Amino acid sequence: METWAIILAAGQGSRMASVCQGKCKQLLEWQSAPLFWHSARCFSRIARLRGIIFVFPQELVEEANELITQLSVKEPLGLPWKICAGGARRQDSVRCGLAELPSVCTHVLVHDAARPFVDAALVNRVLNAMQDGHHAVIPAIALCDTIKEVENSFVLQTPERSKLKAVQTPQGFFRKNLERAYALCDEHQWNVSDDASLIENAAKLCDKAQGSPNPSYFTGNNGSIFVVEGNVSNVKITNPEDMALLQNFAPTPRVRTVNGFGYDVHRYVTDGRPMRLGGVDIPNAPQIAAHSDGDVLLHALMDAILSCCAGGDIGKLFPDTAPEWDNADSSLLLSEVLELAARRDVSVYHADITVIAQIPRISPWREQIQRNVARLLHLPMDSVNVKATTEEGLGFTGEKKGIKAVALVSAEQKLPTPQV
Ligand code: MG
Repeated sequence: METWAIILAAGQGSRMASVCQGKCKQLLEWQSAPLFWHSARCFSRIARLRGIIFVFPQELVEEANELITQLSVKEPLGLPWKICAGGARRQDSVRCGLAELPSVCTHVLVHDAARPFVDAALVNRVLNAMQDGHHAVIPAIALCDTIKEVENSFVLQTPERSKLKAVQTPQGFFRKNLERAYALCDEHQWNVSDDASLIENAAKLCDKAQGSPNPSYFTGNNGSIFVVEGNVSNVKITNPEDMALLQNFAPTPRVRTVNGFGYDVHRYVTDGRPMRLGGVDIPNAPQIAAHSDGDVLLHALMDAILSCCAGGDIGKLFPDTAPEWDNADSSLLLSEVLELAARRDVSVYHADITVIAQIPRISPWREQIQRNVARLLHLPMDSVNVKATTEEGLGFTGEKKGIKAVALVSAEQKLPTPQV
């Protein structure tokens, strides 16, 4: 099964015009990304999908292409994608998307970009049913409201609610079926609001065995539509009042935990810097080869913090070729790293640090180091742990040639707030 997804963002969104302030609905932002991107992100996390076709109104293709290129630099989809122009009606746009599918594609998901809350579990239910051999699969949910058929303000009839379902997207199809159904759609001038309706119409034609170029094709599995459970959250942003859903709905947490690891080594020399660990001077200890003050503990700690905010490493931030960092106090460098983390909405809440050295003995200084590091991190003592170990005489620390430190930092990162 070689499945591609078509994301339809080609609608005019006329019902939404009043609240879009001149922006088209598809490009409205929610949680720092345009609506259509949320579906693309969901699809990109489905291992079985092979690619995405985006369909936009002709006049937006260029802008959307640039936007997707930019978005995928920051957040790569990891899937090939294409963009194409849609048509006047939804079904015309699907047809444009189908024309862009590569020849190897056997199955296709058709999804409305106006359903940004689609989740991986739902997509997988559709894919699983297709894998089981169903040639048309749609997600649907039960209805809470009683539905009436109304004409000219008068009720014609009330269908039995237990048999009714509200249908969502993505809808999944054996590609050949959908393409054949679209060919019939042209011939019979059908107007439909979802793709499964085309298969239904085609199957009805086959029942009558008339008019179709291949009337027997849409019988049996080719003409039946399998229903899987939808998701009540997978709503469509259609009317201005739906905007409230964007404001209230938070499918992802607003804060995430991030962890960073740091590692640093310094050599012992006879004419280096006096040893300093965690900002505490260690008397009668070997001297350190370093451009800065050579505080191996704070260096490992800073790298761990930088990992939490994707900030690279201290070598990049404070190059050891720059004269301004000559004998630099690492405590001050740490405060700069913390400021950078703060600018990226990252706040450290725990640090676990291990110093590895044969000499000197760290234990007499351990508590003082812990207190000072906690102070530098603006954390209580119980949020910072400092340990020390030897390597049992092995390796360069065992041979008393140098010292190393590792640090593991836990931090909280605030995620961007929704922009609606
Ligand atoms: Mg260093």
